[in-house]
Amino acid sequence: MLPVIALVGRPNVGKSTLFNRFTRTRDALVADLPGLTRDRQYGHAKLQNNPFIIIDTGGITGGEVGVDGLMAEQSMQAVREADIVLFIVSARDGLTTIDESIAQQLRLENKTINLVVNKVDGFDQNTVLTDFYSLGFESVSAIAAAHGRGVGRLVEDVILPA
Ligand code: GDP
Ligand code: MG
Repeated sequence: MLPVIALVGRPNVGKSTLFNRFTRTRDALVADLPGLTRDRQYGHAKLQNNPFIIIDTGGITGGEVGVDGLMAEQSMQAVREADIVLFIVSARDGLTTIDESIAQQLRLENKTINLVVNKVDGFDQNTVLTDFYSLGFESVSAIAAAHGRGVGRLVEDVILPA
């Protein structure tokens, strides 16, 4: 069985952009409209020659009801299927209360959660992560999925050793 990586987080943080970069496809819809990926989307990736399954998710909006509730359930299902969980947040938006409630929800799953701060392009590398350390995760990475910055290091330091 190939190791499974789940990409979770609220809508619009760049999960699908990272999925497309990992899988080298455009299978995941990327857009400015949040909440486009309703279902779990599975893809194959070869990261430095190591094969993985990647799961993209629709995102968790906090206080889920209706369709959002289904999206959150899909996300938590992806987490349960995963060997490696990447919890994506956005440096552009900073730490939000939704990120905090997702973090709380993820902690209940008893899995190692790797925090990935995306969209760090244009931000000072020394300060961009400081807010996010308060979430209390040991593994914190900075990337710009749209440009590829930090993605190689994420693979080397977080994904391959897991
Ligand atoms: P998702 O809803 O979490 O899947 O987010 P998407 O991958 O659809 O991306 C949402 C928006 O953020 C799109 O407009 C992307 O182009 C943009 N985006 C993704 N990654 C980056 C990044 O590294 N830097 C910047 N500035 N924008 C990004
Ligand atoms: Mg998406």
